[in-house]
Amino acid sequence: MSTHNSTNSLRLEGIYRNQMENAYKFAAIMMRNDDFYDNFPKEPIGGNNPYWRCSECKKSVPSINYRRSGHYQHCSHYSK
Ligand SMILES: [Zn+2]
Repeated sequence: MSTHNSTNSLRLEGIYRNQMENAYKFAAIMMRNDDFYDNFPKEPIGGNNPYWRCSECKKSVPSINYRRSGHYQHCSHYSK
């Protein structure tokens, strides 16, 4: 019985360790994702369109998708 319990707790420990590793990996991926970019001037597209657009290249925010690479190449906020 004690053997069974220690096997279980070892297994749980392994699962817990795996989850922690996954959490750290996920955080590392998120931190490396420096393409996320929200610091650009926006203006309403207007008309019936509920969305905003970059006030420089006029591309809509949903298609920019908060990526520097989402702006048009002539835009000063564009970056690969
Ligand atoms: Zn732009």
